[in-house]
Amino acid sequence: MSQSATQYHLDASRMPKHWYNIAADLPSPPPAVLHPGTMQPIGPADLAPLFPMELILQEVSTEREIPIPEPVREVFKLWRPAPLFRAHRLEKALGTPAKIYYKYEGVSPAGSHKPNTAVPQAWYNAQAGVKKLTTETGAGQWGSSLAFAGNLFGLDVTIFQVRVSYDQKPYRRALMETYGARCVASPSNETQYGRAVLADRPDHPGSLGIAISEAVEIAAQHDDTKYALGSVLNHVLLHQTIIGQEAMLQLEMAGDDPDVIVGCTGGGSNFAGIAFPFIGQQLRGGKKRRIVAVEPAACPSLTRGKYAYDFGDTGHMTPLTKMHTLGSTFTPPGFHAGGLRYHGMAPMVSHLKELGLLEATAYHQVACFEAGVMFARAEGIVPAPEANHAVKGAIVEALRCKAEGRSETILFNLCGHGHFDMAAYSNYFAGKLTDQSYSEEELAMALSGLPSVSV
Ligand SMILES: *Cc1c(COP(=O)(O)O)cnc(C)c1O
Repeated sequence: MSQSATQYHLDASRMPKHWYNIAADLPSPPPAVLHPGTMQPIGPADLAPLFPMELILQEVSTEREIPIPEPVREVFKLWRPAPLFRAHRLEKALGTPAKIYYKYEGVSPAGSHKPNTAVPQAWYNAQAGVKKLTTETGAGQWGSSLAFAGNLFGLDVTIFQVRVSYDQKPYRRALMETYGARCVASPSNETQYGRAVLADRPDHPGSLGIAISEAVEIAAQHDDTKYALGSVLNHVLLHQTIIGQEAMLQLEMAGDDPDVIVGCTGGGSNFAGIAFPFIGQQLRGGKKRRIVAVEPAACPSLTRGKYAYDFGDTGHMTPLTKMHTLGSTFTPPGFHAGGLRYHGMAPMVSHLKELGLLEATAYHQVACFEAGVMFARAEGIVPAPEANHAVKGAIVEALRCKAEGRSETILFNLCGHGHFDMAAYSNYFAGKLTDQSYSEEELAMALSGLPSVSV
């Protein structure tokens, strides 16, 4: 491969055949997951109403390599291996001596990394005889990914879409419907929890935490129905590790090795996907790299949240996990990176942060859009608003290299394209985007409501 190559394309025959499970290499295991009723550690059977057993076993597995089923790899061939690019033009625009590489996950049918887990989740459910899946979606990316995957394996998919997003993103909804899924604005009248929320506030804009409660309630009540989550859980992070494993092979082709790895974090899955295989190498005695998680300043779970046991949903139906959380009742302000508006962080990402294996930083949305526009003008790809946080993080590192005169190698995950988010770009160009601050009072209140756990 010549020095000036821009794209590093991995042959399909080299697509990874296993997912990488970081639980195998941890110096200490993450804290136990607790039952919401008894507050005692849960076992696989407790999760059986919601998930098929194969996924539950992956959730608790400590095997380093977990095989990717052949039918799943066949579907992946629609867009994987995903390309790795060297951002020559962005480097030039920044005048940095750093080398910037980005892994591009926007080439999937849904336009983001989410099908990497939607496809295996749908497949394992279909194998287990499940007929219907329920889920939630905020920005619509997870919903469209599960709609796509469910349709491939003959599953009925019902998606509780956060009310504001349902109203503001008609094209994401149209995409989910194109794949055959049914979208319901959340809070809805279809669940007991949704009705309770609406009784209290008929014009409630919804939140991911509420939509999760609705989707979980339906799955828990029907034998032929299971629930699917697009982030946060160990098995979701596991499925995303194909990103980092491919990037490793592609960087070998480029003859490079990253010093800094950057990803954006909502629930933590695309970040884990690019970073965990590299962190694993380090844990097994390999090179130590800087791993940087970038989150929105308006929903700063990793940088401002408390590391504590909390619920995954607002209705308190999910198990309790120890994670960096803003409190399950926290409703983030309405900024544009909908996929990053979740109150908690993946327990595994939180655990690694506590172990000092990664750093976290937060930026406001205007600075992230500015970075995204600069990236689009240099590299051609328009990033999703979520991905703009990773772009911003990478640019900050590249400018630090410039100031310090260091030619480090930076790798970041461009987790999705922004073709369904152009209204946000229009608002940015019209000067209508403002930096949203959350209310300190509301945050304090949400944190004061954390469950008390004596483990
Ligand atoms: C869902 C989504 C995210 C946030 O989820 P993570 O689990 O943190 O990756 C980020 N970017 C895009 C494009 C998404 O679709």
